[in-house]
Amino acid sequence: MVEFSPHSAPRDTGWIEVIAGCMFSGKTEELIRRLRRAKIAKLEVKIFKPKIDNRYSENEIVSHSEQSLPSIIVENSKAILEQSENAQVIGIDEAQFFDNDLIDVCNQLADNGKRVIVAGLDQDYRGIPFEPIPQLLAVAEYITKTLAICVNCGNPADKTQRKIKSGERVLVGASDSYEARCRKCHYIPEE
Ligand code: ZN
Repeated sequence: MVEFSPHSAPRDTGWIEVIAGCMFSGKTEELIRRLRRAKIAKLEVKIFKPKIDNRYSENEIVSHSEQSLPSIIVENSKAILEQSENAQVIGIDEAQFFDNDLIDVCNQLADNGKRVIVAGLDQDYRGIPFEPIPQLLAVAEYITKTLAICVNCGNPADKTQRKIKSGERVLVGASDSYEARCRKCHYIPEE
């Protein structure tokens, strides 16, 4: 198994890294950590997030532990392509809220020699794979699955438990509406 590290980064080509997991598993924190290191290496970094996510801060990506980096809000994934021309490293947060064109966009960026780092929820609150993350996992060179801690039993958790009643797939919120649960403790709430 070849794991990604900056010392074994591919040469003369781009690639895709995906950081996937449930809420509260540290996806954005890991994304910020990698992007910070790219900035220290004096690489040209651009960070994008979808328009739907306006919690905490409009022009930054912010982790639950309040780390942040400036970001560009885009209406759709095509806009990432248009604004990435000069970037060497591209970070994309909350990727589950983008359209399925994101798969093609990430492939094009990587084909053009860029390092693309994508973070997003791999399952919705029912445990159903959340497009376009499954497709991105398939085309990525490097995959990191982040786990949280189940608030019910302390096991490693990879499911997002919705605590309030709603049948909407997208319901933006944080600890007031969601918590991390393991497979055993997760249930699909009544709608
Ligand atoms: Zn549990």
